[in-house]
Amino acid sequence: MSKQSKRREALVYHAKPTPGKIKVVPTKKYATQRDLALAYSPGVAEPCLEIEKDKDNAYKYTAKGNLVAVISNGTAVLGLGNIGPEASKPVMEGKGLLFKIFADIDVFDIEINTENIEEFIATVKNIAPTFGGINLEDIKAPEAFEIECRLKDELDIPVMHDDQHGTAIISAAALLNALEIADKNIEDVSIVVSGAGAAAISCTRLYQAFGARRENIVMLDSKGVIRKDRENLTDEKSEFATHRKIDALDEAMQNADVFIGLSKADIVTPAMLKTMAINPIVFAMANPNPEIKYQLAIDTRDDIIMATGRSDHPNQVNNVLGFPFIFRGALDVRATKINEPMKMAAVKALSKLAKEAVPEQVNIAYDETRLTFGKDYIIPKPFDPRLIAEVPPAVAKAAIESGVAKEPITDWDKYKTTLLE
Ligand code: NAP
Ligand code: MG
Repeated sequence: MSKQSKRREALVYHAKPTPGKIKVVPTKKYATQRDLALAYSPGVAEPCLEIEKDKDNAYKYTAKGNLVAVISNGTAVLGLGNIGPEASKPVMEGKGLLFKIFADIDVFDIEINTENIEEFIATVKNIAPTFGGINLEDIKAPEAFEIECRLKDELDIPVMHDDQHGTAIISAAALLNALEIADKNIEDVSIVVSGAGAAAISCTRLYQAFGARRENIVMLDSKGVIRKDRENLTDEKSEFATHRKIDALDEAMQNADVFIGLSKADIVTPAMLKTMAINPIVFAMANPNPEIKYQLAIDTRDDIIMATGRSDHPNQVNNVLGFPFIFRGALDVRATKINEPMKMAAVKALSKLAKEAVPEQVNIAYDETRLTFGKDYIIPKPFDPRLIAEVPPAVAKAAIESGVAKEPITDWDKYKTTLLE
């Protein structure tokens, strides 16, 4: 298909038959006058009064508990940059669609017209009573760090900035599995991280939680290697500044075991790949075009384990493997947070699932004959029906064990059955 016709297809998809991708559907009967008297005045006053007595009754009588706000100000949309709140709306609606189809979570997408941190935080706090959870989306770094951090502290519902943690969770699962295949320990490997934005910082922090050592990490931004002696570093960048006296990517790549790309297309060369250690792990995740093209990378090294953000190659690091299931688990135990243990539980569940026999329907969905754990299959596929059965319970359990679940689950078999309905 030509570029022009792809473009047209995407525009028609969004425009017809109804503009946009989601709509609101009533869940109660509304056929008779009696139904309406219950749905609205006078019947509606009863749940209002119950909730006035105890705010938690909102979970019993309203859609709050299954409703997530996908919130953006449009300052870092896909790879398109700061395109503004209205232009970000198709992405936020798309996220709503994915939440719904993968985890049956309803979404209101909210596009906020401000780049000011305080205004953004105040807006989200003021609308939070409507929602059971908040998914922050496509907000530029470094503002995104403070916004998420403050909202997590100041709200008692789960808040997650998906560009940071979604990517971190999926890529960490992929990394653990790739290391297993490469027969290397996370504590020992040297890791080059290209990019120091929202995704890169959060990924690197999560890899550390799994054992990666800061002294083995070199991080780069648009100005080159982030060194201790560089001036005017943000707090997040100085956290990963290296003592090594190197300046450029080609130096950093020498003997590196792992390359994590969350930066720009085509900045890694075959010559750089050739200097990496044996069984190099290369996650070139810049979207839509990776730091090195998939085919070029695998033609350069036959011992490479490669992942990208793209669906047209094996090992797609795709956030959709995470957010629907993480929020599902969090909402189902009414977690007050999405904390580190919950994220780590999601990583472990994803990593474990990739090692189990793949159901035939997944092979069929991806036009594959036998997906099996190995270099070309290090993380599950998004259309794997086992995700909904495996990831939310793992997240929910971690929420309970870490003390942030207000409604702990006791009957796990029953819970799994409801997930599969
Ligand atoms: P971001 O916050 O804007 O960060 C981009 C980072 O890349 C910045 O730190 C920037 O440096 C750095 N950079 C730019 N040019 C560079 C270069 N030539 N060499 C090294 N670093 C360079 O964006 P983000 O949300 O973290 O996303 C970054 C990339 O990852 C995007 O392409 C995005 O599409 C992709 N991504 C992919 C996935 C996925 O595969 N699932 C998920 C999330 C993000 P400065 O700090 O100096 O500006
Ligand atoms: Mg995003």
